[in-house]
Amino acid sequence: MTEQELIATVIRPEIRALNAYKVADATGYIKLDAMENPYTWPEEIKAQWLKVIQTAELNRYPDPEAKTLCRILKEYNQIPAECEILLGNGSDEIIQLLLMALPADATVMAPEPSFVMYKQVAQCLGLNYQGVPLLADSFELDLAAMLTNIKNQQPEIIFLAYPNNPTGNLFDSDAIEQLIQHTKGLVIIDEAYAPFTDFSFINQLTKYKNLLVMRTVSKLGLAGLRLGFIAGNPGIIKQLNKARLPYNINILTQCSVEFALTHPDMFARQTEILCHERARMFLQLSTLKNIHPCPSAANFILFRTAKNKATDIFNTLKEQGVLIKNLSPQKGLLSDCLRVTIGKPEENNAFIKALKSAI
Ligand code: PMP
Repeated sequence: MTEQELIATVIRPEIRALNAYKVADATGYIKLDAMENPYTWPEEIKAQWLKVIQTAELNRYPDPEAKTLCRILKEYNQIPAECEILLGNGSDEIIQLLLMALPADATVMAPEPSFVMYKQVAQCLGLNYQGVPLLADSFELDLAAMLTNIKNQQPEIIFLAYPNNPTGNLFDSDAIEQLIQHTKGLVIIDEAYAPFTDFSFINQLTKYKNLLVMRTVSKLGLAGLRLGFIAGNPGIIKQLNKARLPYNINILTQCSVEFALTHPDMFARQTEILCHERARMFLQLSTLKNIHPCPSAANFILFRTAKNKATDIFNTLKEQGVLIKNLSPQKGLLSDCLRVTIGKPEENNAFIKALKSAI
């Protein structure tokens, strides 16, 4: 049997047809490609953290329900007392878990462009994925098209990133509520970029049984720990919990996030600087010829370049040591688009300088 025959025998066709999720090697670059918080911790906080993890019992399994961490996350994120939460190894794992729990022939709906994992995981599991294009000029939801799709396809689940990645905008909240009211399935509001906006659907959780809000600590500054959560109706969370692997949140993540969230002021200061930098970057980008930035409520800015210039600009920036994300190969509404993550002021200045020389 050849290797190809073996693969054809043991791997489902929908997985064979997929492209792997690629992450660029960022070694040596000013890294503005992955929406990370660029700031690390002051030495005294690092020293306190090392003391905490010294006490972790690595020979024991972690608390399978991570009860202390759940309590702290509920408090930090002001989740209503009536709601339950479930933790994942990053919100990526929660997306996988949600889709694994669906009936075998279920439909997953999301606007496009949006976070690529919704489609990737749906296709990996052989589910029916339905992408509904955003409006071309505003990147707003096409409410009429979404409602028609809901009527015709009856999706079991709809993902809405709020703010949306990669466009950075917050969809109209009335349109979102209409979707929640019209669908018979679940609506997942993915608030990965919550640290950078005051808008949220957490207050609506008690109003709708089919609404769940997902968040992560990644963009706050803890991407390396891999922790996300989803909050909502206890009946749904209880069922999802059955599909979760028992020890999915390791002990170092549990105690490190518990420790980190005792320093809310540190994170608030960092996100405040990043929001300030976002406004400064937006203004600077707006003044550049043939560069059209989209208003963003997240820690990145999507911008359109002159026609067919995005890949050249991306490569020139790279040659100058600045790594951003080239979305142009995704085509459609993202043709000629690049996305830059907001970094430290000096990193942002280096990006703007390199961009000026690249256009
Ligand atoms: N949702 C959105 C909208 C994202 O942009 C990302 C990461 N880029 C995630 C979820 C995944 O985050 P995590 O690090 O928690 O897996």
